[in-house]
Amino acid sequence: MKKLQDLASFVAAEFQKSYGRPPRWIAAAPGRVNVIGEHTDYNDGFVLPMAIEFYSVMAADRPVDGREVITLRSTLEPEVATIDLSRPVVPGVPKWGNYPRGVVAGFLARGIQPGGLEVLLHSTVPLGSGLSSSAALEVCTATLLEAVTGSTLDPVEKALLCQKAEHDFAGVPCGIMDQFISALGREGHLLLLDCRTRKTEIVPLQDPSVALLIINTNVKHELSGGEYAERRAQCEEAARNLGVKSLRDVNVEQLEKGKSKMRDLVYRRARHVIGEISRTVSAVGSVRQSDWPAVGRLMYASHVALRDDYEVSCPELDAVVKIAESIGEQGGVYGCRMTGGGFGGCCVALVKASSVDGITKKIASDYKVRTGITATIFSSRPAAGATVLRG
Ligand code: ADP
Ligand code: MG
Repeated sequence: MKKLQDLASFVAAEFQKSYGRPPRWIAAAPGRVNVIGEHTDYNDGFVLPMAIEFYSVMAADRPVDGREVITLRSTLEPEVATIDLSRPVVPGVPKWGNYPRGVVAGFLARGIQPGGLEVLLHSTVPLGSGLSSSAALEVCTATLLEAVTGSTLDPVEKALLCQKAEHDFAGVPCGIMDQFISALGREGHLLLLDCRTRKTEIVPLQDPSVALLIINTNVKHELSGGEYAERRAQCEEAARNLGVKSLRDVNVEQLEKGKSKMRDLVYRRARHVIGEISRTVSAVGSVRQSDWPAVGRLMYASHVALRDDYEVSCPELDAVVKIAESIGEQGGVYGCRMTGGGFGGCCVALVKASSVDGITKKIASDYKVRTGITATIFSSRPAAGATVLRG
């Protein structure tokens, strides 16, 4: 929370610099890391993310001239984004403005008029690293608009509005996880999300003896771009072969029985998804019992399946997991896995809190030796979801 107050002071000062007066409203929404449950969302499965202590923050006031325009300035982008409320709100340039544009469109579609605004935004969630700076930006915008208009949305509706903004305005066909955790996260808790029913359950993770480390490989492999769509199609093919609506409806035994009905590649994709859904449910039980070695084993198993069956890892992510394994439980690492869509981005590790500094140094130096790249590593406790800090 301390961090968040400091951040509010920082954006207030930046707002003052840009617009020459203090802001009337300040809102924040966190990024996230997915502890386990990867590539399960579009298979109607479970995910287990947590909000991290890194945020998108917005400071705002009404424009002095009363114009019906929303002006957004980012500390991280040179171009100013504007939304003219006297016209239909459609995607445009700069591209980054499409995330807030989509959210404004969602409010307008519900008959909620935001009115003109001057906004200054900042993010401590690194952009494009798989920690969902995009969802943080959307949920932050929605939270700011709630404060400004006095119309509070149901948090689930708010998350869905933000997801639609990402689909329709940013052109990213994302699942529901990122916006849900950013909107609904609770301090000291993971969030189990059933992507089929959209039901959520908070799972306490408050044992001070453990921490989560996020290791950014600082690589993002440019692939042909079709990998995500290809994996989705393969999962649909597997479900069709098995005669079910989605892979959520199948357990491991049923998959084995149906193995002959599908291509080997499709079988392996399905094996990851079905295994991952069951690992996620098991992880919740183990977190509830503070059985950290068991959670760690599930994380390693998740990585192996993502690497070998789902084939979405990369040498840098694998290097981090190998280093984590070499440190082992004796050195304070319970488990480690790639997190996010894959092909770069971050790993998440469950570690002993007392060993965080030593593990961070060891991973950083070994990763540098193995890859020649400097990783960015930080720890976070499970943070709270979106909040209004002023107004
Ligand atoms: P991720 O969500 O993993 O960080 P994305 O590619 O989905 O990666 O989203 C990153 C994009 O979100 C950036 O390229 C930018 O367009 C936008 N964005 C997020 N935060 C900000 C910010 N504070 N200022 C400007 N743009 C931002
Ligand atoms: Mg994103």
